Amino acid sequence: MKIAVIGTGYVGLVTGTCFADSGVTVTCIDNDKEKIRQLKNGVIPIYEPGLESMIKSNFGKKRLFFSSDIAEGIKDAEIVFIAVGTPSESDGSADLTNVLSAAREIGRSMTDDIVIVIKSTVPVGTSKKARKVIQEELDRRKADVSFDMASNPEFLKEGAAIEDFQRPERIVIGVDNEKTGKIMKKLYMTFVLNNHPIYFMDIASAEITKYAANAMLATRISFINEIANLCDLLGADINNVRKGIGSDSRIGNKFLYPGPGYGGSCFPKDVKAIIKTAHENGYELNVIKAVEKANEYQKNVIFNKISAFFNNKLKDRVFGIWGLSFKPRTNDIRESPSIYLIEKLLENGAVVKAYDPAAMAETKKRLGNRIIYASDQYEALRGADAMALMTEWSEFRLPNFNTIANLMNAKVIFDGRNIYDPAELKKRGFVYFGIGRG
Ligand code: NAD
Repeated sequence: MKIAVIGTGYVGLVTGTCFADSGVTVTCIDNDKEKIRQLKNGVIPIYEPGLESMIKSNFGKKRLFFSSDIAEGIKDAEIVFIAVGTPSESDGSADLTNVLSAAREIGRSMTDDIVIVIKSTVPVGTSKKARKVIQEELDRRKADVSFDMASNPEFLKEGAAIEDFQRPERIVIGVDNEKTGKIMKKLYMTFVLNNHPIYFMDIASAEITKYAANAMLATRISFINEIANLCDLLGADINNVRKGIGSDSRIGNKFLYPGPGYGGSCFPKDVKAIIKTAHENGYELNVIKAVEKANEYQKNVIFNKISAFFNNKLKDRVFGIWGLSFKPRTNDIRESPSIYLIEKLLENGAVVKAYDPAAMAETKKRLGNRIIYASDQYEALRGADAMALMTEWSEFRLPNFNTIANLMNAKVIFDGRNIYDPAELKKRGFVYFGIGRG
C-alpha cells in the first residue's frame, strides 16, 4: 500500500513515520522546502521521543520518503492525508487556508482514484468544502478520476505521540460510504491489535468529536484550576482535594492537575473554534466560554503571585525559569504558559534566565536576546531572586536543593506545577508558592 501525508509537522510527521513503520510506503509532503531538505538529510525538525530513530530506520529502508511537491508526492498513493496546520483566525474560527490549498493542489494533480482523509482538526463542513475545491480542479482539467473523502481526527499527545499513534485508545473515522471505510480499516488494522476500537461514523460527527474531546479536557483543567484558586483563599491543599474527588470513578483522577493554565497548539485554538462554530449556528456554548475565561485568568496566576511577593517592584529582579515548552517531552512552545509568564516579567523590567531540556532553540527564535539562555537548569538560578518552575520535565522533579540554595540570591520558589513538597522546602528555608496549596 502507498499513501501520502501532506503537512510534516507534529502530527503529519508522526503519522507518516508510524504508517511507514507498519510496512506501508509513505511520502511525507510539506511546502516548507527547508524542512523537507533537512528531513532528507536526517535532520529532524521537532523533538518527539523515539521519532528520530524511527524516521531514520524507515527512510533507510525506503519506506519513508519526503517531498515538497504535492503532485510528485501523491503519485500512485491510494490514500492522501491532509495534516496541515489550522491556526486561529482573529475572530477565533479555524483558518482553513492551508487545508483548502492542499486540497486544491491534490485536485490539480491527482491522476488515479484516491481517498482523501482530513486529519487536521477542522470544523464541521470542512470535508464538504475540500470536496468542492477538489472537484472544481478536476472539472477544470476535465480529469476522469473519482475520489472519496474521510475525516480521521488525531488524538495523539505531543511527548507521547508515537505510543499514542501506535496504540491508540480509539480511532475515529468519518466516512460516507462502505468502500472508504474498508480501505481505512485495512490501513489501521495493525494499530488496533490491542482490541481498542475503530469508531466508524458520519463525517460531521467525526469532525466535531475532536473539538468535543479537546473542549472536555480543557474543561477539566479550568475546573481544577478554579478549585485550586479557591483552596489558596481558604487555606486548603488542592492535592488532597484532587485525590479526594479523583478516586470517585465517575470523576477519575486523570487530567485533574492544576497549573498555570492550558497552552499548546491545540486547546486554546480548538476551544475558540468550537465556541465560534456554535455561535455561527445560533447557539452559545456557555460552559466552554467560561472554560476559556478561566484559563485567561489562570495564565496570570503565577505572575500575580510573583508580583504580590515583590510588592509590584520587579524592575531588575532576576528570575530563573525552569521549563519553556508548553508541556514536558516536546520542544513545542506554542501558547506556552512559561513564555506568557516570561513576556509579563520582561514587560515589568525583570531579568529572565531560562533553561529547558528541549525548547531552547524554539524559544530563541521567539524571544531572541531578550532573555538569558542558561547552559543547564542550575545555571538558570545563579543570582536569581526567585525561581519559577513552569514545565514539569522529569529532570526538574528531584533537584539538589542545597545547590539551588547556594546559587540563588534569595530562596523563593514559585512552583507552577505543584511538583515540590512545600513542607520540605519550608524546612530547607525556602519560601514556597504552589497553586492551590493554601
Ligand atoms: P504543525 O504546524 O506542526 O505542522 C503543519 C505543517 O503543515 C507545517 O510543517 C507546514 O509547513 C505544513 N503546511 C501548511 N500548509 C501546507 C500546504 N498547503 N501544503 C503542504 N504543507 C503545508 O501543525 P501540527 O501541530 O502538526 O497540527 C496539524 C493539525 O493537526 C492541526 O489541525 C492541529 O490542530 C491538529 N492536531 C495537532 C496535535 C498536536 O499535538 N500538535 C494533535 C492532534 C491534532
